[in-house]
Amino acid sequence: MKDRLGREIDYVRISLTDRCNFNCVYCAAGSVLRIPKEMMMSFEEIELVVKVMSELGIKHVRLTGGEPLLRKDIEMLIEKIRKIDRIETIGLTTNGYYLEEKAESIFKAGLDSINVSLDSLDEKSFYEITKGGDLKKVLKGLDKVAIIKPDKIKINTVITKYLPQELLCFLNFAKKNNFILRFIELMPVEGINFKDIYVPVSIIEEKLKDISPVELVSGKFGSGPAKYYRVKNIGIEVGIIAAISHRFCAECNRVRLSSNGVLFPCLNSAVGVNIKDLLKNGDRETLNSVIKETIYDKPISHNFTKESIHFNMCKLGG
Ligand code: SAM
Ligand code: SF4
Repeated sequence: MKDRLGREIDYVRISLTDRCNFNCVYCAAGSVLRIPKEMMMSFEEIELVVKVMSELGIKHVRLTGGEPLLRKDIEMLIEKIRKIDRIETIGLTTNGYYLEEKAESIFKAGLDSINVSLDSLDEKSFYEITKGGDLKKVLKGLDKVAIIKPDKIKINTVITKYLPQELLCFLNFAKKNNFILRFIELMPVEGINFKDIYVPVSIIEEKLKDISPVELVSGKFGSGPAKYYRVKNIGIEVGIIAAISHRFCAECNRVRLSSNGVLFPCLNSAVGVNIKDLLKNGDRETLNSVIKETIYDKPISHNFTKESIHFNMCKLGG
């Protein structure tokens, strides 16, 4: 459906949990007050919300978190969403730790594509960034996915102080494995030491140009807002997602559902609408009209600055 500004809203990101087995320096999942388990959306509740959303024009679903693969039997949810008529794609954003065990079953259940967050290819730095993560295990998981779904793997790398010295490694790694590579501007979310790790997007753009001539590529590689450069000497495209430096609110197509069932029309929304409560008390018609209104009234843009953002990614669903 279209919102009041005429934007086509066809994409929902659903956080399946606010918990995570990593505690990345830029996300601070570990410092978040946990949502009690009984307040989380059940798979049946998520299925119903997605059904209603699909009737309103949502076609693309992304499962995220926290770490979505921590959610037991996630395959059952994927199967349920797969059966919803108007849903065209189901994606997953994960830190990749459990992919070694889960890759086969989640794709068998109907997953279409996967985004793996990977911020260093150096074991020591990876451990430092994730506060204990095991790079080797994530790479093994990626190998497994590459056998099952070789052309649908995106690597998301947050732009931090670790990236400049590893930029060429990342380009070669993506080229060798045929991964789609995207660099994401660091957002100053709650609980992180922003100043210690922040590196401007422009530094990465300059470094890319030092490595090779680059050209902006038109066309889209997914439903996201990345700007893609072709890095000529390496022979790959690299996406840059800069939500703060280059706002893309005018083209925004998404809403977010948190793991406790609150619908946020924008990352900027201080308060969302509690859908889980409605599921308990309301009928399907009310649910439909509340979701419709929330989407229709989506804010014109976020007002984040480089100074601070008062939300946490793993709570809202990054
Ligand atoms: N645990 C999963 C993962 O890491 O992919 C899914 C949840 S995570 C919150 C989703 C995405 O948000 C990841 O790609 C992560 O890199 C990104 N993210 C987290 N904190 C961020 C921040 N402060 N700025 C920009 N991106 C961030
Ligand atoms: Fe966990 Fe993902 Fe946040 Fe890292 S970015 S702490 S993996 S939720």
